[in-house]
Amino acid sequence: MLRFASLGSGSKGNATVVAAGDTVVLIDCGFSLRETRRRLALLGLQPEQLTAILVTHEHSDHSAGVSRLARQCNIPVYLTQGTWNSGRLEGCPEVVCFNCEHRFQIGHLEVEAVAVPHDAREPCQFRLHHAGRSVGVLTDLGSVTSHVVERFRGCDALVLEFNHDLEMLHSGSYPAALKRRVAGDWGHLNNQQAAALLQQLGMEKLQHLVVAHISENNNCLQRAASALAAVYGPLDERVVFAAQDRGFDWLRLAAVAGQGQPLQ
Ligand SMILES: [Zn+2]
Ligand SMILES: [Zn+2]
Repeated sequence: MLRFASLGSGSKGNATVVAAGDTVVLIDCGFSLRETRRRLALLGLQPEQLTAILVTHEHSDHSAGVSRLARQCNIPVYLTQGTWNSGRLEGCPEVVCFNCEHRFQIGHLEVEAVAVPHDAREPCQFRLHHAGRSVGVLTDLGSVTSHVVERFRGCDALVLEFNHDLEMLHSGSYPAALKRRVAGDWGHLNNQQAAALLQQLGMEKLQHLVVAHISENNNCLQRAASALAAVYGPLDERVVFAAQDRGFDWLRLAAVAGQGQPLQ
């Protein structure tokens, strides 16, 4: 059984948990140690249970809590060389640099890292596989590349960034340079870009779709939902909206019959 949940999603902090059996991986940690403990507890987890922390990139909403958590609980941290070179993850007790070209195994999970266009040193996003199922976590990209489409096609579950509404961003209070950054090819996906990407990826296999990394200043649930509905049709129980203050609760993917060992 592949399962996943979030501690929080948005520009004030991100952390996603993906688990299979006793393998529990945290993707990013943008929260303080105390807040991370509190939020993990809401999901029935303690930091000591984490097998590894995967880091997508060095922006503080993804990296701020990583090294302290890793140090306190002695958890290995996996990242790209570029993310490591940013100097933002210093103090981690054990660092493993991976190459986005090669999949690797952490316990029961197979990790596929996918390079994405975003304004960081060597950013990537993840697709995690277990027993014939996969969950994709795809936030923090400014544009859609054919590489991204190819690598995230056919996920059984997807956490996808619907960052901003273009009109709200333009009419909002951000300084002009920041507006250009957010809307640019190395910034974040707007609602329409995310919906178009979803259409390209295909939705037939999706058991869960999480609308994530929603900007609190430049987006609202109604606009994200209507952009999504334009390609998805009426939203149903498969669609979940991730929140900054509480992420989302556990979602589960049953193993494909006959694949993988039975896990509790
Ligand atoms: Zn972010
Ligand atoms: Zn970022």
